[in-house]
Amino acid sequence: MNLKKYLTTSQIDICQQEKEYYQRLGTNKTIVQIALEHNFIQKKDNTPSFNLELIKKYEILVVDEDEKNFYIECKELLGVKRLKLLEKELGRSVVQKTIPVREFNERFTNFISIDPDIIEKKIKKFNALDADDTEILELFRMILKHGIKNNISDIHINAYEDFNWLRYRQNGKIQAKYILNTDLAQRFSMIIKEKSNIDIIDAQTPKSGGFSEKFEDVVVDFRIEVAPSHFGENIVIRILDKTNNLKSLSKLFPSSHPMSKHLFNYINQKNGFFLTVGPTGSGKTTTLNAIITQRDRLHEIIYTIEDPIEYKIDFVTQYQVNEEINFTFQTAMKSIMRQDPDVIVIGEMRDAQSIKTALKAAHSGHMVYSTLHTSNSYMAMERIRDEGGDLFILAYSLKGVIAQRLVSKLCECKVASTNEKAKRYFKTKKNGYEKNGCIKCNFTGYNSRVLLTDMVFIPPDMKTRYKFYLALKSSTVLSAWDDFITFSYYDSAKYLFENGMGDYETLTKELFALGYVDDEE
Ligand SMILES: [Zn+2]
Repeated sequence: MNLKKYLTTSQIDICQQEKEYYQRLGTNKTIVQIALEHNFIQKKDNTPSFNLELIKKYEILVVDEDEKNFYIECKELLGVKRLKLLEKELGRSVVQKTIPVREFNERFTNFISIDPDIIEKKIKKFNALDADDTEILELFRMILKHGIKNNISDIHINAYEDFNWLRYRQNGKIQAKYILNTDLAQRFSMIIKEKSNIDIIDAQTPKSGGFSEKFEDVVVDFRIEVAPSHFGENIVIRILDKTNNLKSLSKLFPSSHPMSKHLFNYINQKNGFFLTVGPTGSGKTTTLNAIITQRDRLHEIIYTIEDPIEYKIDFVTQYQVNEEINFTFQTAMKSIMRQDPDVIVIGEMRDAQSIKTALKAAHSGHMVYSTLHTSNSYMAMERIRDEGGDLFILAYSLKGVIAQRLVSKLCECKVASTNEKAKRYFKTKKNGYEKNGCIKCNFTGYNSRVLLTDMVFIPPDMKTRYKFYLALKSSTVLSAWDDFITFSYYDSAKYLFENGMGDYETLTKELFALGYVDDEE
């Protein structure tokens, strides 16, 4: 692999230095591995274009695919008729090969072990009959593995009067999955608590913890929240899959994005304050992590204060707030300020006190990043003002704000749109796309999610800053808005529409919820 083709000279430098650093620690890592960890380069998207139903129907293993062919392995070759049918369903040619029966059976069983039908059958069986601990543990692992393979972000187990419900959150939406009886739910609870070192005896207070588990050579972290409710325990398992959630900033905002240049410029400052805002589940922590990972972590002292720490990031010192042992946000911040930091990351500013402290740190020559729970960039500034943040510091240190939420992304099977109303709404000559449906997206037309953002960057010149200060002090931030570099939710929706990532229906619904009204209707 010719690295110069994929990496800039400074990126190769950073990787080389880190490689030597790892060697001194006794770990051998290749430049490619390090570049991947830095998100300088990206692994190919590995979402398969086939589904479990086909695998079961034809009893095959799909080993590889490219634009023209699917490569499959089977016990015996498919006949001409079945082969034709399969090729029709996959929409590509199939190259088949036989492998020994025993090997096939082993791999096939392993592959379909995450089949939701099998999981359901097992749950039904265990609801009715007793099972031993190994069987329950195996079922639990199947549920986790199914979750990882299907981009499920959370698994919820909720207790009701007569039963427990196990549900998944996938692409932001909750899916009702399985009914568990109390006994089975309690046994899952025991497994979870044991794995995450949570006190089994005290069931009266909410507890959190986590554990790691290896699936096919990949270690996945899970974060656990257990809380007592009226009818029993509520459990939330968050799947922290690094390959899914540690995204690079250039993947979130590619160079073709209209704001990409400004964004990279305003976030990579030596001092100041930068915010990512949005509701829970809007991916603001993912964006924040993407910002941190693209900084020069080897030559900057970076500290984070998080509650809890979700993703471990190399060469960054991460602090976990722990009220129980009195390691509060304030103590952590005080300690960090004495440790000569360059960059400080505050997971979330929850109250007036944390807002004031963050501003003070930004004003004393550090680059501070944080998140807030507001719906747009304008509200973020108003919120800081409301909480009594120092307006002078805010006006002179705030570099910018990204407000965001996640919307359904069109699957590759999308078709060109003929909706004239959409073109008028987005004031564009481009046609955009509409949803279709295929095996890959389970015939929903959507596959994964994409960021809808509202961004503002505040130019550094003194005139703009002074105007911003006066605006904050006297009436409303809006009176200084014209001097800022802005990109509204509407602009973002237009960008997604024009580039075939979002459709009119989804985008206008989201914009309406955000307060944008279509004049035409
Ligand atoms: Zn599709």
